Amino acid sequence: MTQAETKKSFKAGDIIMRQGDPGETAYIIEAGRVEILVTGPSGEEKVVSTRGAGTMIGEMALIDSAPRTATVRALEECKLLEISQKDFSYRLDATDPVLRMATQVVLTRYRDMLTRAEIGGENNNWPPAEAVELGYAEHTNTVETIKIANEFKEALSTDEISLHYQPMINLQTKDVVGFEALMRWHHPTRGFISPGIFIPIAEESGAILAASQWALRESCRALKRIEGQTGYDHHLFMSVNFSSRDFASDNFVESVYNTISESDIQPEQIHIEITERLLMDQPDNAKDTLKMCQKAGMSIAIDDFGTGYSSLSYLHYFPIDTLKIDQQFVRDMSKNDNSMALIKSIIAMGKNMGMKIVAEGIEHKEEATILTELGCDIAQGYYFAKPVPESEVTALVHNWESPDY
Ligand code: C2E
Ligand code: CA
Ligand code: CA
Repeated sequence: MTQAETKKSFKAGDIIMRQGDPGETAYIIEAGRVEILVTGPSGEEKVVSTRGAGTMIGEMALIDSAPRTATVRALEECKLLEISQKDFSYRLDATDPVLRMATQVVLTRYRDMLTRAEIGGENNNWPPAEAVELGYAEHTNTVETIKIANEFKEALSTDEISLHYQPMINLQTKDVVGFEALMRWHHPTRGFISPGIFIPIAEESGAILAASQWALRESCRALKRIEGQTGYDHHLFMSVNFSSRDFASDNFVESVYNTISESDIQPEQIHIEITERLLMDQPDNAKDTLKMCQKAGMSIAIDDFGTGYSSLSYLHYFPIDTLKIDQQFVRDMSKNDNSMALIKSIIAMGKNMGMKIVAEGIEHKEEATILTELGCDIAQGYYFAKPVPESEVTALVHNWESPDY
């Protein structure tokens, strides 16, 4: 949510901002006309220009609180929309990193030009534009983010990016029934970069679209190979993570379906993992897309369930097959009554609605025992197995022994 802009009114002759005062807000003129005056060294005032509706005044205040370089006076009744520095940075932070950096650079250079023109020469108080730009870039980590985004795009076509597969266990039979595909990035100089870092950057830059398609294709092929080696024909499933960007792309269902068909596995073997946030951000689009996925045979799982929204009523609205209880609740289950109560109600409610329940992040035997007693269907966590490369999956399945709980 953005901060609300404030509307302000001024009468003819009112001073809207005064040269030399600290600048903390910019204004968009909604109605009326203003004049811009500059006071010279000997105190004489000179009108340098006038501005009307639809233009902006005091824009330099969006980058710093340096003194106003001119006075602005209303020539007639004016209505202005006030934009605070805080609102501006909030909006900037929410935008694409390249756009963010470009805006800051242009504003800073413009400030530099103006002050040199007005004050003259090098003899001014402002830090050089380069220093200010570097300050911004450092503050928002912009340069680093852009670098990682570009490197990630390139890495997709190399073997720096791979998938690891974490077994998912049926709590009743204690067998491995499927895997979650998790992306890994081994960078040649930075080393291992956590998906917690590169996935949000890939989402922001749009590279996630290619990454998700790659992950789906690669995990479908891996599933086919794993089936061949284990003899578990058409019995294992693969859970693949998707983001809102994927869902917003036009041919999402078609391309997912095509990829699955090409790999010669059944659509029923693919579980699409998405988060609650995606559902709430674009409910109608998500509903239609999910329906099409389900119609094509795929299964839909809501990831990190319980973290996003307190209202559970929306679940009826979407075609959902599985709820994945967030690991935080599992971690807190034995320490915190609220987490335990929440897990109980998620399981009861999900079951009532005919859904399967998965719990993730199980690290201890007691957690597995309690979740089994509560009726949870499937579990995933370090207690059973960590995510492993494909080369270790077959041995893991072959040597699988019923875990103790
Ligand atoms: P997630 O989808 O919630 O995946 C589960 C995360 O929990 C994985 O972290 C997994 O390694 C970790 N985990 C599994 N069992 C345990 C446990 O017992 N204890 C603890 N502490 N952690 C456990 P990972 O692989 O670092 O992935 C982090 C997140 O990055 C994922 O969270 C997912 O949101 C995202 N991600 C990973 N791969 C992909 C991908 O291919 N596409 C998309 N869109 N997102 C991905
Ligand atoms: Ca997931
Ligand atoms: Ca999760």
